[in-house]
Amino acid sequence: MRNVADLEQTLGHIDGRGYKAYREIRGAWSFPHFQLHVDHVQGDPFAAPSRLRAIVPAEVTRLPQEECRPGSRAVGVGALLARRFASEARRVARHRGSGKSGSLSMESPGQEVLPQTAVRVDRDGAVEARFTAGLPAAGRRILGRQAAYLLTQDVPAVLGASLLASALNEDTLRKHARVNEDADALRGALGRLGLIAFIADGATLPRRTGVDERPLDAASAVLFRSATSLRVTISLPNAGEVSGMGIPKGVTLIVGGGFHGKSTVLRTLERGVYNHRPGDGRELAVSDPGTVKVRAEDGRSVTGVDISPFISNLPRQKDTWRFSTPNASGSTSQAASIMEALESGARVLLIDEDTAATNFMIRDRRMQALVPKAAEPITPFVDRVRALYDQHGVSSVLVLGGSGDYLDVADTVVAMQEYVPHHVTERARAISAEWPTGRIREATSSFAVPPPRIPLPRSLDPSRGRKQVSVKVRDGRRIDFGSESIDLSTVDQIVSRAQTEAIAAAMVLARQRILDGHTPLPDILQRVMEIVAQEGLDALDHRRRGDLAAFRPFELASALNRIRSLQVAG
Ligand code: ADP
Ligand code: MG
Repeated sequence: MRNVADLEQTLGHIDGRGYKAYREIRGAWSFPHFQLHVDHVQGDPFAAPSRLRAIVPAEVTRLPQEECRPGSRAVGVGALLARRFASEARRVARHRGSGKSGSLSMESPGQEVLPQTAVRVDRDGAVEARFTAGLPAAGRRILGRQAAYLLTQDVPAVLGASLLASALNEDTLRKHARVNEDADALRGALGRLGLIAFIADGATLPRRTGVDERPLDAASAVLFRSATSLRVTISLPNAGEVSGMGIPKGVTLIVGGGFHGKSTVLRTLERGVYNHRPGDGRELAVSDPGTVKVRAEDGRSVTGVDISPFISNLPRQKDTWRFSTPNASGSTSQAASIMEALESGARVLLIDEDTAATNFMIRDRRMQALVPKAAEPITPFVDRVRALYDQHGVSSVLVLGGSGDYLDVADTVVAMQEYVPHHVTERARAISAEWPTGRIREATSSFAVPPPRIPLPRSLDPSRGRKQVSVKVRDGRRIDFGSESIDLSTVDQIVSRAQTEAIAAAMVLARQRILDGHTPLPDILQRVMEIVAQEGLDALDHRRRGDLAAFRPFELASALNRIRSLQVAG
């Protein structure tokens, strides 16, 4: 294999030549302590930067093997290394010519800890790190010496300061491995305990700002403390006995005054499907992996979804058992999102009044009197939520400060008061009995879960112009898929750009390898998840990308469901 001296010589040789000559550095180079692979060379200084990989053997990293066990621990350590590498790279990156010349970067994980492709930690402690570099040029002429400095000085320095045990605090490393392992164990224990979520005593729930996911500073945050009668104790592999609030299966209401912390609790449950980095405050706040946040999204498109359990007899609408619209209303979008979540296998629904359609959630006695049922297409969620659990085992957690009608249908009621939860189910029962709502139940039939839809391959076309596959992620929240643009800004459980990238790649894979016009959507999702589980995220894209992160079937489904060109069989 060519070595560092060869690389320097090659770069000296192509110095001053046209940018295309950078192609000569493609391939593998052996450095004293690692191997550098130049997988892709950018076409010009303004194009997406070049893709590189460093492979560092175990005897160089000296990472303790017990912290690198495949699964939870390796994922936790991988996230730590990626975050370190990314921040070291930011320190040395600088403009060294035109366009992206001199950039050096790695996809950095946020607060959530997900399996990702930026850094992979092997069981023996070897590490593969994937990053990008802007190969330097003046105009379009190669700056060979600058490139040599970037690749032979900066890259080894960044790597040495981020991927080696000697550069990392032993406690920090251990913590990243073990905290992640505990979170997985905790989530795994929920089902046995009849719980859908758990929030540990002492957790920090509020975030710094609406756009900053780091924890609110310790001086301002009120630490979480369970209501006494909801407190459960769970034994974890590393942390030992941990106590906190268990949210039981069934229908749970979170009530309380405005600004008392209701939405913050729900947001914690929403994010609790993922693990969090040490120091986040939500390390031991987890929810059932089948938990799906549902909200109203007027304007979204809906394709062939049976929303008839909630909505029927729409004015001038055909059937609502195959409801399609390019422009849903608040209530129809929320109904569609619930039915889609059930189709994808959701076990828990989360709804916050802040982002729900009021007429979908409630219809009180007076409105029932004023607008007769015959003139109202909507059967409100309050009349369906019980059947969802009783007949299908699908739990709901609802944040509702404004409607007492739900007290009649709840199994558990938690009241937030100055950020502290209180268990008020008994009182809620007494109030229900004392002040009947007088409502007439609007749903008498059982809740029939419709058969799954079958997406048609031709309606999902990633090509554009002469390009067979033209798929691009914009702003982390939008996928340009062929000539379609999919808006995911309202999908609250997509937490990183890398996740969106992986979902986009999964859509292409699903289209190319799975969709055949006969396979129902849930089977498509399952097949994709199996491929990722067996072959890793690299199965989604063979270009050895470092910018992919794990996702759930629900988020993949939400992207598929929002393609405006989507068509389903029948
Ligand atoms: P609600 O939904 O009940 O109106 P929110 O959950 O939106 O209330 O919280 C209101 C404000 O209080 C937010 O700015 C939030 O960050 C903050 N907050 C929530 N929980 C806590 C807490 N435990 N400690 C300190 N501030 C909190
Ligand atoms: Mg709120």
